[in-house]
Amino acid sequence: MKILKAFRYRLEPTEEQARQLSRYRGCMRFVWNKALALQKGRLEAGYPLLSYGDLAKLLTLWRHSDEYGFLSEAPEHPLQWTLKFLMQSIKVAFDPVHPSCFPTFKKKNRDEAGMRYPDAKQIKFDLATQDQEGRNVLPKVFLPKIGWVKFRHSRIMDGSLRNATVTWHAGYWYVSFQTEVEIPEPVVHPSTSEVGIDRGIVHFLALSDETFVDAPGWFRRYEAQVAWEMRKLSRMKKFSKNWRKQVANIQRLHAHIANARLDFLHKTSTIISKNHAIVFVEDLHVKNMSKSAKGTKAHPGKKVRSKSGLNKAILDQGWSMFQTLLTYKLTWQGGYLKTVPAPYTSQTCPMPTCGHTSKENRISQADFTCTKCGYHANADTVGAMNVLRVGLTRIACLPA
Ligand SMILES: [Zn+2]
Repeated sequence: MKILKAFRYRLEPTEEQARQLSRYRGCMRFVWNKALALQKGRLEAGYPLLSYGDLAKLLTLWRHSDEYGFLSEAPEHPLQWTLKFLMQSIKVAFDPVHPSCFPTFKKKNRDEAGMRYPDAKQIKFDLATQDQEGRNVLPKVFLPKIGWVKFRHSRIMDGSLRNATVTWHAGYWYVSFQTEVEIPEPVVHPSTSEVGIDRGIVHFLALSDETFVDAPGWFRRYEAQVAWEMRKLSRMKKFSKNWRKQVANIQRLHAHIANARLDFLHKTSTIISKNHAIVFVEDLHVKNMSKSAKGTKAHPGKKVRSKSGLNKAILDQGWSMFQTLLTYKLTWQGGYLKTVPAPYTSQTCPMPTCGHTSKENRISQADFTCTKCGYHANADTVGAMNVLRVGLTRIACLPA
């Protein structure tokens, strides 16, 4: 079985290379915005969208024109990939099941989709760490229309190269390589159990087997620490030397939190992937308004603190990362993860004989009592049980 891996490194371009990269980045942005304006205009006028092939032909015309001739300086494949990526983004925006936002115009100096070299054959490496005189040097990567660029080879890559993407983030240039790695066919999962998982109001995760996973206590400590450092920052003179130092401190703190969170998510996903063969999670695209930690006016959430502010932000960001980790760990174990659309998970009675859905079932943030059959349980567990129930129904409906 083949899987894709990604490796990201900091680039160390020369000043001239950095200027080139900035110009090319501007060209990518220009092509994106121009093609997007064209497509938007057609949609508004009721014409069908141009295909990728049409746009690619236009790109060739632009590159040979007097007006947009500057585009011919930039590497061609990344420009074409920008158009492909735009078409992909438009397609996703009209997806009947998971519609997402329509692509927007790109502004200068924002982080944006990178410059992708889709053809691995054009990319070369010089991984020597010493020059002929024995001096230490950085390894280099060859990128079309830029040449050999130094990069910090911080970890060893494996697999066969598929593409490279150059991105800009907060003043630095990075290159990401995507590789394809052959891994052994998955074995049969040692477990035969299925489980539903829901994001809890009180707990980080609730499982349908009535267990919970809580965020470690340091989440709360970091929350206090960030607030403290932010207050310190607010008392400093903006753009002074100390103010800049403090900003750097806070950025380091955030990076530290991100690492600790990843560690927690790795441990949690490893345990779950070993214990269960099939895991159902609620589809992220289905918004469930009843899950607001604020509760309703009549029933304000009791545990609002547990998911407010930074703490909530940390956990919310963790959720999609958790799904990604769990998906590949399950695959390695021979199991799988399935997302299910599960609206009203917190208001529906999970009893197979009942299934009564009502706002009244949810008597508080933490408690669920069915008004029809009287079934009583923890509200987070009920959410997870419903995710499992819907997931199993969907599997049963699939054609064999
Ligand atoms: Zn019921």
